[in-house]
Amino acid sequence: MAYNYDPENIFAKILRGEIPNDTVLETEHALAFRDIAPQAPNHVLIIPKGAYVSFDHFAAEAGADEIVGYIRAVGAVCKMLGVDLGSDGDGYRMIANTGKNGVQDVPHLHVHILAGKFLGRMLPNI
Ligand code: AMP
Repeated sequence: MAYNYDPENIFAKILRGEIPNDTVLETEHALAFRDIAPQAPNHVLIIPKGAYVSFDHFAAEAGADEIVGYIRAVGAVCKMLGVDLGSDGDGYRMIANTGKNGVQDVPHLHVHILAGKFLGRMLPNI
């Protein structure tokens, strides 16, 4: 079955400039902006500019330049926040909620970067 992308999702509207956002970084292939309901002192979402619903969709269909551009943007955001290990930062958690079981609310690929405090174990019941 083919991937199904809804062009009316909130992040598509942000990319089209129809909804404002608190931009952290914009590159040719990616946009990073602060989450509207932060769950950590630093909570940034990073999205590719292309129409991909999930990481697996992106991995299957994005071009090499888009993939490199997106991954580099994730690294650049971590560096901008000062949480990357290359700068001896305190680290972060990167989350990509996906689909029904992953409880993905917005169907445009995004990774969350959560940082700025100790985040505990990955899942609360483990
Ligand atoms: P999820 O799809 O469950 O991984 O999470 C979607 C995230 O998008 C949530 O953390 C929301 O707080 C965030 N969000 C929803 N609308 C906006 C918006 N307009 N600007 C910034 N973040 C948003």
